[in-house]
Amino acid sequence: MTVSQAALPPGSWLGCLGGGQLGRMFAHAAQAMGYHVLVLDPDANGPAAQAADDVIAAPYDDHAAIAALAARVAAVTTEFENVPAATLDALAATLPTRPAATAVRIAQDRRREKTFFRDHGLPVGAFAVVERAEDLRDAPAALFPGVLKTATLGYDGKGQARVSTREAALLAWMSLKQVPCVLEALVPFRAEISVLAARASDGRTAVWPVQENQHAGGILDLTIVPARIDAALAARAQQVATALVTALDYVGVLCVEMFVLGDEVLLNEIAPRPHNSGHYTIEACVTSQFEQQARILAGVPLGDTRLLEPAVMVNVLGDVWFDAATPMQPAWAELQALSGAHLHLYGKAEPRRARKMGHVTCTAPTLDAALALGQRAKAILRITA
Ligand code: AMP
Repeated sequence: MTVSQAALPPGSWLGCLGGGQLGRMFAHAAQAMGYHVLVLDPDANGPAAQAADDVIAAPYDDHAAIAALAARVAAVTTEFENVPAATLDALAATLPTRPAATAVRIAQDRRREKTFFRDHGLPVGAFAVVERAEDLRDAPAALFPGVLKTATLGYDGKGQARVSTREAALLAWMSLKQVPCVLEALVPFRAEISVLAARASDGRTAVWPVQENQHAGGILDLTIVPARIDAALAARAQQVATALVTALDYVGVLCVEMFVLGDEVLLNEIAPRPHNSGHYTIEACVTSQFEQQARILAGVPLGDTRLLEPAVMVNVLGDVWFDAATPMQPAWAELQALSGAHLHLYGKAEPRRARKMGHVTCTAPTLDAALALGQRAKAILRITA
């Protein structure tokens, strides 16, 4: 049962497991509301640690570090899904822990995730769990062509192989070292979308507008809001996201990625945290995904998720340093001269190809104008995807 939580006053300490850019933007939002943020992350100088009030530099399963965190914060959240669920369980013994280990455990394993969707009557494409070679031999013919994905630890298209036949799937499974996988039918989608949903400890929910996502090389390239789909489909996607957070008894912010196939949506995967496709909420919505995460953690009412202006978010990967006109110097000044383009950099010391270094959110009175601004930002940064 969901039990609502008494509000923590500003000045309270909030804990964050994980030290990446999502934790950094969470820290900014929580601090703006007067909270202090303590980050637990192995890297003492990562993106979140740089922004936090304090950091405990230790692995996520370090018992002494977990006890030290629990002693200093009034509530704790996570910014990436591979925090050991056992750590969340240990913290939940004494603290509001948002989200709870039960939901994170489901999101950590595609087998559990897809099965949860199916068992709760949520729309999901055909799939099979692959743990033995026979699972591939017995898989229904309708799963080919398909996508074989490792059950755990895959992200940004890693740990995946497109397979056109059963034989190709067996070979692909060998090269994935025969780890547990799911085999999904290839969905001939016409668009990829995502929906951010929030659920508070009293069970109230909120959803943001639907986002349309374009990927390049398996990594998010562009998020367009509102998604260019009809209103009934957008409402359906929001309704599925709300049903999902409710079925999970989720407390926190969650992102649901979906495929649009004809007039239906199919769930792809969930991220039990704020999401790259939700960064636009910082400038374009009344309440950002990070402020909402802080509100839920502090037990204060959910904020308004309304879109203030259409937005296009461009991801800035490490590639732009290498592809810059002046080696290693992206044209920041030119970008920052664009009215309506908001640059965010995550403080990562070393640019690497395919590494998420920052993003640019372009807002404008119309979606066409935001799209044009997004293209201009991409051209300035020489993003060719
Ligand atoms: P994922 O890591 O599951 O989000 O997959 C990364 C990307 O691969 C998705 O954003 C899609 O573009 C593509 N993809 C994943 N699964 C499927 C599928 N079943 N059918 C078609 N494309 C897929």
